Amino acid sequence: MTSAFKQKIFSTLLLVCGLCLFDAAYASDSQIDDLLSQMAQTIRSAPEGQPETLSKLSQLEPTFTEAQRNRYYLFLASSYGFKGRHKERVELVESRLNLVRDPDYRVRYLYQLSSGYTALGEYEKALAAINESVILLPKLTNQNAKVDTLQAAITLLNSLRAYDEALVYSERMLALEGEVEKSGSKCIGTGNLVEINFLKGERQRARSLLPEAINICEAHGRKFFSLLLQVLACIDLIDSGNYHQGKGAGLALLVEFSKLNQSSDYLTMLEEAIARAFLQTGNLEQAERYGLQAYHHAKSGNAVQLMEKTAESMAGIKRAQGQFPIALEYFDAALALKNRVLDDQLHRNLAYQRVKFDTQDKANQLSLLEQKNKILAVERELEKKNNQNLWLAIALVAIILVLLTLWLIKTLQQKNQFRQYSQTDGLTQAANRMHFMTCANEAFKMRTGSMSIILFDMDLFKNINDSFGHATGDWVLKNVCETVKTHLRKVDLFGRLGGEEFGICMPDSNQATALQLAERCRMAIAMIDTEPSGYRFPLSASFGVATVDSSGLTTFDATLEAADKALYSSKAEGRNCVNVFR
Ligand code: GH3
Ligand code: MG
Ligand code: MG
Repeated sequence: MTSAFKQKIFSTLLLVCGLCLFDAAYASDSQIDDLLSQMAQTIRSAPEGQPETLSKLSQLEPTFTEAQRNRYYLFLASSYGFKGRHKERVELVESRLNLVRDPDYRVRYLYQLSSGYTALGEYEKALAAINESVILLPKLTNQNAKVDTLQAAITLLNSLRAYDEALVYSERMLALEGEVEKSGSKCIGTGNLVEINFLKGERQRARSLLPEAINICEAHGRKFFSLLLQVLACIDLIDSGNYHQGKGAGLALLVEFSKLNQSSDYLTMLEEAIARAFLQTGNLEQAERYGLQAYHHAKSGNAVQLMEKTAESMAGIKRAQGQFPIALEYFDAALALKNRVLDDQLHRNLAYQRVKFDTQDKANQLSLLEQKNKILAVERELEKKNNQNLWLAIALVAIILVLLTLWLIKTLQQKNQFRQYSQTDGLTQAANRMHFMTCANEAFKMRTGSMSIILFDMDLFKNINDSFGHATGDWVLKNVCETVKTHLRKVDLFGRLGGEEFGICMPDSNQATALQLAERCRMAIAMIDTEPSGYRFPLSASFGVATVDSSGLTTFDATLEAADKALYSSKAEGRNCVNVFR
């Protein structure tokens, strides 16, 4: 395969596909939008547009929205392109371009401009338009527009034989992020890599990329692109001398092509390659058949390089058939076309060299800008993550604090409960002996005036247990305590000192007050109704009272002992009475 005769390969496709995708993206529900969509969809079968639709639209033009106006003029421009009226196409775009600010629309106008100028052979202007559209890339919101813009640049650069630069743009297309599947950037990008490597003559590289490229296009549902890549593989087979294999594959691909009903330069190239394969394998009849098909397709497509190539093939076929005059005619035609191709190529090379530096500079600026944008995006992402982490940390600390507080409260509650258990008598809920002694001792030390201690012991308690059972004895102990407590002041301490013996510590109380309280308690105990225990029996207790600073009592222990003595005196006197230590 020679590099010179493949230029419009993806570009025709791009024009068609690009228009469809753009229009799908911009469609709306108004009547005008419907008409515009209708026209865009039928552009291939009716490039000039349905006359009645067009006249309707031209009448409605003053009422168009900006987007509708853009779509309308872009349709007109591409319709001029289809009809080969490139001068009018370029003039139309140039007259509108200044008014178009929206980058997504602007690149589409620039594409029409570059494509028009390329067709007119004004490559410098075409390059300038492509340059501008490439610079607009970062501003594009539409993924399809990005793919189309890069593709337009690649196609033009390929036609100028600037393959290395075309490869850079292909890699950029592959690096596009976003709606990859919808825009087909992966398929078209790898497809370009294959094609450009073939154009560069890097056959091994192109062959190694081919299977992967076909797989990607198949996986993304890009049947037509996959077919085009298979055509490239098939032509490569024939070019490298595998005529039988290439012929078989090529004929099958032609059938596939006819199913899709698509015209493309690829089809012409394939037919030309099949003709050569038939010529090389001695089937001149078939060689002529496919050679002529290719020649006519090239002619109707007005592709000069393809015309030259197919004319040359036909010359070879006719020579092999012995029809020398016709062979000579084809040969002359091919020669004339070759001159045109060479002239054109020279023209293109010169144009490219002139704008190359400019392009390079802008491409550099662009990649710098894109890098900056990427860095900014990464920074933003990082900041977002940091914020998220901060909030997570705060939430975590808050949760830990709440748990810690709950744990602390529970621990304190438990501690309180344990303390309570360790200080209280379980049966009567009075202070136990140890706690009573500790508190009374403390109160003794802190006293400002006099202080009294009352001890009392239940009378003949053993008899109660023996007669009515231990449970009744317990009932008595609980009720005695409840009764006594109702007569105490807040400051008085009350404790169970052991068995059925209790103590009351009365801060700031003289002997008379203590005696009064002991007497009240004695009477209250004696009046307890034991009926609720299930038995009726008399209850009484004997009391002993001692007061500090009276009768020479100076220490707590001495006072306690004195109260005990007084209690024994009460027992000795016959119980159910109060004795004061004097
Ligand atoms: P006194 O009038 O001389 O004090 O005679 P008493 O029977 O009360 O004295 P004693 O010391 O002989 O008996 C005390 C009894 O108290 C013996 C013991 O079984 C009983 N007791 C001690 N603690 C409890 C208790 O927690 N529950 C019951 N039900 N009985 C208890
Ligand atoms: Mg007793
Ligand atoms: Mg006792």
